[in-house]
Amino acid sequence: MSAHAVIVMNNVGENPNLIGMPRAELENFFVGLGEKPYRARQVLQWIHQRDAAGFDVMTDLSQKLRDRLASIARIELPQMLRESASADGTVKWLFESGAGQAIESVFIPEAGRGTLCISSQVGCALDCAFCATGAQGFNRNLSSAEIIGQVSFANRVLPRRDHGEPAVTNVVFMGMGEPLANYRSVVPALRILLSDLAYGLSRRRITVSTSGIVPHIDRLGHDCNVSLAVSLHAPDDELRDRLVPINRVHPIEELLAACWRYAALHANRFITFEYVMLAGVNDSPGHADRLAELLCGKPAKINLIPFNPFPGNEFRRSSASTIQAFQNRLRRRGIVVTTRKTRGDDIDAACGQLAGKVINRARVRLGEKNLRMAKA
Ligand code: SAH
Ligand code: SF4
Repeated sequence: MSAHAVIVMNNVGENPNLIGMPRAELENFFVGLGEKPYRARQVLQWIHQRDAAGFDVMTDLSQKLRDRLASIARIELPQMLRESASADGTVKWLFESGAGQAIESVFIPEAGRGTLCISSQVGCALDCAFCATGAQGFNRNLSSAEIIGQVSFANRVLPRRDHGEPAVTNVVFMGMGEPLANYRSVVPALRILLSDLAYGLSRRRITVSTSGIVPHIDRLGHDCNVSLAVSLHAPDDELRDRLVPINRVHPIEELLAACWRYAALHANRFITFEYVMLAGVNDSPGHADRLAELLCGKPAKINLIPFNPFPGNEFRRSSASTIQAFQNRLRRRGIVVTTRKTRGDDIDAACGQLAGKVINRARVRLGEKNLRMAKA
């Protein structure tokens, strides 16, 4: 695989980057130019399905319109700084995100599907105790163009699947950042992923993972009901307050109530609860029992994530036998539970290891100001 096919395209100053516009926004854009709204459909397909690298190839638009678009708009992909390939087939890309900062995306090939794990922010302010992204602090939100650009980039550089379909069949917002803290950009990106004129992914193939920004869980349910994963990691508020500080704003009871409301919006909708396995911290039989009590009889699945270590962090991963015993104990209580296979850890691409290797990132943490913002 090579990145040669990808060029930074038509980078004309601050002209709008059409790659991040969902259909309604693109229709408004064309109407604003005095054009018919259906131009949006054509351009969406060119960019996202036919990998257009510029406007000149859009032969079903008049030459005059193509020239005009080239002077007032752009189609720009993120600039790839480094590609790392893991022995297990996982690929990680580091993308430029301005001012010496970088974000990361990870492609995980599996039989029958290709999952792209994408970032939504440069860093993260929520400061979960076991997360490399959180340890870096927060720098800024990504734009919808920067979010969808990660998917477009992957599909352009990866070989197509057997029947000519794009390489990316599933997208998970589990890279750097808290997607629901960047709601304004994440929702347009979701609309593009769902659109039949662009990626046409079903709701089940798109997962937003959140540490629990409750008001935005409700909004998301109504705006874009994709699959939801919630980073629970502890069965009681005392422990969760320490591991996932946003719990001090939205405690477990409030969070779970939002999850059940979300699930109720669609038939057969399950919420996935992520639970990082930290040796001696949250992995005892008692923790398993309390977790089962919270989720028993609810539309819930649990995904146990073996902790992935990173420099400067003192947590340790629970042993394989402890994880197995925890899983068995939950299963005996009738809970659907899986353990996530660790992929790409030889290239620091496993969950929670994405740090973007940046210089000078402002260390903004979840202080009182952020807590107030998150509450608002
Ligand atoms: N901000 C979102 C999504 C990104 S993190 C969220 O927190 O849900 C994706 C998942 O990786 C989350 O469940 C997160 O808690 C988990 N994670 C973070 N650091 C980890 C680590 N060091 N080892 C294993 N999982 C980790
Ligand atoms: Fe942010 Fe998620 Fe990491 Fe917590 S686990 S610091 S919310 S990226």
